[in-house]
Amino acid sequence: MPWSDVQVGDLVKEALCCLVRSGRLAGTFLFYGPPGSALEELAFAFASAILCERKVGQASAPVANCQAETPGLLDKLVGQTSGRSQAETPGLPGHANGDFCGVCRTCRHIRERIHPDVFALEPEGAFYKIDTLRTMQGMAALLPLEAERKIFILRQADRMRQEAANSLLKVLEEPSPHSIFILLTDNVTGILPTILSRSQRVRLSPPPLDRLIENLMASKGISKEAAESLARLAGGQPGRAEEMSEGTWMERRDQLIALLEKVRHGSRLEIMHGSQVLSRDRAGARETLEALLSLIRDGLALTLLDNPAFLLNIDRRKEISSLWHGAESDQVIRAFETTVDALADLDRNLNVQNVLETVFMACAGRSSAESMSPKGPQRA
Ligand SMILES: [Zn+2]
Repeated sequence: MPWSDVQVGDLVKEALCCLVRSGRLAGTFLFYGPPGSALEELAFAFASAILCERKVGQASAPVANCQAETPGLLDKLVGQTSGRSQAETPGLPGHANGDFCGVCRTCRHIRERIHPDVFALEPEGAFYKIDTLRTMQGMAALLPLEAERKIFILRQADRMRQEAANSLLKVLEEPSPHSIFILLTDNVTGILPTILSRSQRVRLSPPPLDRLIENLMASKGISKEAAESLARLAGGQPGRAEEMSEGTWMERRDQLIALLEKVRHGSRLEIMHGSQVLSRDRAGARETLEALLSLIRDGLALTLLDNPAFLLNIDRRKEISSLWHGAESDQVIRAFETTVDALADLDRNLNVQNVLETVFMACAGRSSAESMSPKGPQRA
């Protein structure tokens, strides 16, 4: 899989590609971006580009236009760097064009996560264990087994308590010439400033919405409208869109639309019945409420802004217009607030059916005094 197949912005790919080509590699990289960014995909692609067996003279077709040959320009492309972090690890010839073939033994083993010199580390539980970092330190001191360098990829690198972070810092301060560390995080503020200053930082932005939509259409075989809905609902985050399309989210949303239609114009009995049906799946109640929030938010786009262009669920434009037809914006705002409260109620382990019933009453514009549970949701 060459760089052209990696789903991140061209500037980032171009910059990393040129770094590999030049052979001017820092010892520590920090890849960061919003949740759902393709950080890990980027890290393993970068590892492949560094270690790919195709050397100068055997390169495949050129990738992007390389503008990063001039020192300094690269920093502008991939982010700021500072301090002593830029101690480049010397000795490797640059690859012909910084790309990787995706088919050599090294590329395949990296893709299959079985390369003996490429390690992925992660927290155990909520945080990294000191032992994990000490083991890494020991391994980094040894020569690589097959490749010219060892590459350590640290997932969720912000999940370190002080002692672990200090331990990592010690490793980074005494870099071994044949090791490269790639820290990944969606929470860059959780990284020690001393580690930040030693890292070549690479910020990933979510891809433009148009590109995400195109990718979703191609990879999921869905219509443009469905892909656009997914992209909007996922807030433009590719990882989240992937998760939503593979899980039950969209299905649950469609069930909800049908149910809300009944509930909005239905009797209290129907509201109770709807709450009962959905509360059977306690685990999915949160997802249900999140899907509901998107539908209510669309109700606000219609009733408050009178503008369907702002809809998230654009693939259900017709159903949503019918759903909120004749509703007052005050009522939709109340439904929104009730649903936000209901999410907190779920965390407090309140009875799911009562929580949903309160929400549906609000969506139907009915007074909560009518609810079956006059004191509000009861503890389960
Ligand atoms: Zn290769």
